[in-house]
Amino acid sequence: MKVAPRAYAEGLDKPVQYVRGVGPYRASQLAGLGIETVYDLIHYYPFRYEFQDRPQTIDSLMLDVPATIIGAVQRVRFRPIRKRGLDSSLQVDLMDSTGRARIVWFNMPYLRDRLAAGQILRLHGKVGVDRDEAQMINPSVEWLDSGDDPTTWNTTRLVPVYRACEQLSSAMIGRWVREVLDDALPAVEEPLPPAVLGERGWLPRREAIACMHRPTDETQLAAARARLAYEELFLMQSAIALQRQWGERHGRAPELVTTPLIDQRIRKRFPFPLTKAQDRALDAIVADLKQSRPMARLLQGDVGSGKTVVALYAALVAVANRHQCAILAPTAVLATQHFHNIEKYLAGSRVRRCLITGKTGRADRARYLTEVAAGRMDLVVGTQALLEENIRFASLGLVIVDEQHKFGVAQRATMKGARAQGGRGTGGGRDSRDWLMPHYLVMTATPIPRTLSMTVFGDLDVSVINELPPGRQPIFTRLVGEGDQAEAWLHVRQRIAAGEQAYIVYPLVEESDSLDLKAATVELERVRHDLLPGARVGLLHGRMKKNDKQAVMNNFTAHRLDVLVATTVIEVGVDVPNATVMVIEHAERYGLSALHQLRGRVGRGCKPSVCLLMSDSGGQTARQRLEVLCATSDGFRIAEEDLRIRGPGELLGTRQHGYPELRVASLVDDVELLMQARDDAAALLAEDPNLSKPNHGCLRSELRRRFRDKVAFINVG
Ligand code: ADP
Ligand code: MG
Repeated sequence: MKVAPRAYAEGLDKPVQYVRGVGPYRASQLAGLGIETVYDLIHYYPFRYEFQDRPQTIDSLMLDVPATIIGAVQRVRFRPIRKRGLDSSLQVDLMDSTGRARIVWFNMPYLRDRLAAGQILRLHGKVGVDRDEAQMINPSVEWLDSGDDPTTWNTTRLVPVYRACEQLSSAMIGRWVREVLDDALPAVEEPLPPAVLGERGWLPRREAIACMHRPTDETQLAAARARLAYEELFLMQSAIALQRQWGERHGRAPELVTTPLIDQRIRKRFPFPLTKAQDRALDAIVADLKQSRPMARLLQGDVGSGKTVVALYAALVAVANRHQCAILAPTAVLATQHFHNIEKYLAGSRVRRCLITGKTGRADRARYLTEVAAGRMDLVVGTQALLEENIRFASLGLVIVDEQHKFGVAQRATMKGARAQGGRGTGGGRDSRDWLMPHYLVMTATPIPRTLSMTVFGDLDVSVINELPPGRQPIFTRLVGEGDQAEAWLHVRQRIAAGEQAYIVYPLVEESDSLDLKAATVELERVRHDLLPGARVGLLHGRMKKNDKQAVMNNFTAHRLDVLVATTVIEVGVDVPNATVMVIEHAERYGLSALHQLRGRVGRGCKPSVCLLMSDSGGQTARQRLEVLCATSDGFRIAEEDLRIRGPGELLGTRQHGYPELRVASLVDDVELLMQARDDAAALLAEDPNLSKPNHGCLRSELRRRFRDKVAFINVG
């Protein structure tokens, strides 16, 4: 698309700079809020509404109570000020039939031009007093037309409040929105297909936008909000569905077939039968792998549910089909751990495998890369950084990414690049437009609520391992308040006396004045001397040297230590079956999912385990939140709760998850709308896969506008 020089752009593309009252300086501040064009401005919705009661007379005003008044401007005085943060004051005397009020606006010099004697204003604000007269400071203002019937003024109002910033007030933004709204609305197009609009009975988009900025009542506002939330979800689901469809049509992956013989040989590698849940996940994976359409699957399961085994099975299917497999982890430690795990199962096998991390020596690395490129290496375990380098695979058939419990979604984007790089496919009637891609499996130990996986990971199929391997012991979780601490520590002492081991987790390493936390280093002494006298106590924290950490871990594993005082570094892959006690101090400071991960460190042996959540502050809500952990071990329920309380950004560990933030819709409150939107998007694409019908032109251009950078298909075909 050719773009006219910005200054001449008209309609919705007009830069806000040219909106009356904005100018280059304000425009740069608006850009900070993501508002660059008139289009952006009218899509900048209020985040709440101020309810204004019916107007009252000036003589009935009460001190400190918010009120609405209507009156005529009698006099306007403008004064520049040079004082702490103030640049000007604008004073207005306002009269109604019962008296006079003084109105003051600080730092709003631009109002000056719009205030003249005789102008009728409707004001809303808190009432103060100045020299025996009522006063309002920085009230919100509405200009009334003296030609109108005054009875129409005598109503309640819902006044939009816009998210402001230091330099821009909600009122300023509101004024600019009103300035452009009526002229801009006719240019707003309807992206929802007529069928959807009719069937669901949504307000037209223009009406909905107008209503967000100028609501008349709550009912209408709710209808407008629902319509826009639905639209947002519908557009996102359409983009996701198109992207999937594109991958299905144009992606070509090698067909990796699992014969009964291959299955038998792989299963022999594991010293245990797989659980039903593992088999279910594998059924889905095996079915995906034999297709030439690339698999794109998310494998979810709590820590310890046996994902690694499932992943290794898939890797061996690829190898049996003479293709390569890459297994990637977010950190070198995790990659190394995977490698050692895998080594255990592969002892004596002919599978050629290597580990490549930042710690791999130059010579080894160069040799590995050569062998990978020559097809003499079957299985590469490495960090995700591997993909950013120039690694070439002779024939990459499967990529497995272990996200552990942080989503490196940035890395996920890189993954996609790697998918396109591909290798020698098995071929057979390929279209020149087809992309060679490996199959793709992501593993995560953070259960992701369905609403979130449908949006953030909407392009992936999901398998869940919802059952732990046999022999696992239940973990009893208890919330320990100030009063129960002595009893809790007594219990820990008894466990240690019985030969069991304990973790004690603290949030930080060093005492910090500002946070007043019990730090692990300081607590160590208290644990040794007061709480668990006689126990052999070790310390593990993030700032220790690697070798020291390893030594401490080895001592704990070999039961030369009874207690490990640690920061959350123990989250990462520790497996000591004899550890049956997990004490978490300041539990209220962690997300529920993080706590759930932590307690997964116990309950791995043959004795029942206990998790003690110590929390002496945080109040009622914090306690209620923690009660969820005591009540359930269902990671999904816990994640839902986290999502509800802390929002998706928190849960995913990143805010950049590839799709734009939702502005109106909420993944917590709008589940129903999300389901509708997904079904409607699927139905639409079934009927018109390329969105080429004339009715769908607007939808197409709206998708292009929003997802151009995100979704490759939109510029294709
Ligand atoms: P995850 O990667 O999901 O955290 P792992 O695959 O590392 O879990 O498995 C955790 C532990 O359970 C490992 O010690 C593994 O050997 C064991 N395990 C896995 N699957 C089974 C099974 N089907 N039966 C018994 N033990 C299993
Ligand atoms: Mg694992």
